[in-house]
Parts: sequence; C-alpha cells; structure tokens
Amino acid sequence: MERTPAPASQSAVPRPNAQVEPQDSSPSTKEQEQKRTANGSTAKIPQPKLRLHVETLRHPATTPFLTLIPDIASTLDTALHNIVKYLYSSPIHAQSETPSAQMTKHPSFTPSIPPTRSVTLHLRDIDGVAYTTGTELDDDHKEIHLSLPYVQHCTKGDDPAKELVGVLTHELVHCYQHTSPPESANDKDSKIPHPPGGLIEGIADFVRLKAGLEPPHWKRPQSAGERAETWDAGYQHTAYFLAWIEDVRVGRGAVGMLNDRLLRVGYVSAKEGDCGVGFWRGLFGAEVAELWDEYGEYLDGGKGENARGNWEDEILNAE
Ligand SMILES: [Zn+2]
Repeated sequence: MERTPAPASQSAVPRPNAQVEPQDSSPSTKEQEQKRTANGSTAKIPQPKLRLHVETLRHPATTPFLTLIPDIASTLDTALHNIVKYLYSSPIHAQSETPSAQMTKHPSFTPSIPPTRSVTLHLRDIDGVAYTTGTELDDDHKEIHLSLPYVQHCTKGDDPAKELVGVLTHELVHCYQHTSPPESANDKDSKIPHPPGGLIEGIADFVRLKAGLEPPHWKRPQSAGERAETWDAGYQHTAYFLAWIEDVRVGRGAVGMLNDRLLRVGYVSAKEGDCGVGFWRGLFGAEVAELWDEYGEYLDGGKGENARGNWEDEILNAE
C-alpha cells in the first residue's frame, strides 16, 4: 500500500521532558515490553473471531474491494494493534512517584479492553460510508457495515486502499472503545450521562490519525479560527483536539486514560459529591472549554505558557 508521508506527530523530536519510554534501539526493549505487559499497563492484542459477509458478489465494487484489501484479517489485526497502542497502553512512570503524583502529572491507568468476541464485516449496497453495531442478541458480537457504493467512490481516488483501511480502522475502534460503565448501559434510569457523540467519533478518528491513515481532505488547524466551532464537532475536528491534548498538553496515554475513565465512572466526575469537578477537570485539571481555549491559543502561537511555537517542537510523543 502506498503511504503518504507520516503525519507531523510521528516525525517530531521529543521535548526534553518527554516521558521515559523504552527506546527501540535499547537492547532491553523486549524485557521492558514484557514487564510492561506483566504490569498490566499494555493490554494484550485481542484476537476476535473475524467474519466476512458479502451481500452481493455482482456489485461492481465487490471485486475491487477484495483486490484492494486482499488480506482482511491482517488489515484488521493491524488496526487492533493500533487500537491497543493508542487506547490501551499506559506509560510506565518512575516508581518513586506516589499514585497521586502520577495521576496529576502523567496519564496512568490499567487498560481494560471490551470483551468483543467477534467482528463481522458486511459488504453491502447501502448509502453512506460505514457504521458499526452490536448484534441484537449479544453486544459482544459486532458488525461493521461497509457501503459498496462508497468503495466504488474510493476507487476513483488517489489511494483507495489507504482510505478503506482508514475507514475500517475507525469502525473497529467503535468495536473496542468504551462509552459508559457496563452496568449503566442497560439501565434506562442510570444517571450517568452518555458522552457526546462527537467525543466517541473523535476518539475513533484519533486512532485513525495516529495510525497515519488520515485522508487527504483532513486538515490540521493552523490557527484558532481554523478549528471547528466546538470541541465536540466530532471526527477529525475532535481528533486533532485530542491529539493536541495527548501530544502537547498532557502526554502519551491521555486519550487512553479518557477512554478508560468512560468505562470506570462514565462521563461524570471521578470524585463523588464534588459537583464542581467535572470529567475533564478530573482527568486533566481543566474544564473542556478551558482546554479548547488553550488549544486555540496554542494554535495561534500567542498567549500563555502552552502557546504554540511549532507543533513539531512541542510534541511529547514523537515516535
Ligand atoms: Zn464512527
């Protein structure tokens, strides 16, 4: 698959205060990786049953899809790898730090992946691009429905395979992301609010962005004015905001910690009875509106200690 140049977030130089992570060149990387897994800070790559359902072999986009994505299982496995890397890996921190110091200074959580047991890809003659759903009987079984007319549309683009892998990665995130504590999901009287749809879509596109699968029409905003109107506009708009939180404002694992908090407590404050402390403040020490303003200031390169010089110079998570 022909790849476009890696996004800036993957080619930048880390700041001196970047978190301590094993370097690829280190001879002990493997041991550290094992230790990290043993510590439960990186989840195991899930291996769901994978199925393919082709609704109609006569549709003109069916064969092109199977030609563009000849090994669907390995494509989905790569996507699962990226989901674990960007949502279910908690960085290692110095052991001397107290848990409370770790919470305030670095993202820290124990990754817990949803128990999705199977994913079935349906190639169908439907409108739109794609959507993901659980099966009627059991939400642990997921279905990704991909539009064949959209596949046909993609074949006219510059890099249809990259676009299709990007769409599949986005949809697979929906199969493996958290939205609310499991006990509240089926409880109509639950007081735990659902997170905004834009946040859920933004997380899916955050993984797509980090995986280097952003489509050509996405544009990282260069100024506050180029942002969407609101932080939860969703998709690429929220994805770039989340990438700023992870790469610049907080550090590696920030979005994974956010996803984890949706599972543990839901879209509410972690501190019971502390009404003034919201979900975002509990995670990152500021309300989402403040973070959105700070993001704008950063993009404008102006005010505040977190203001932007250059995204590449500021980045915490270079790879
Ligand atoms: Zn989506």
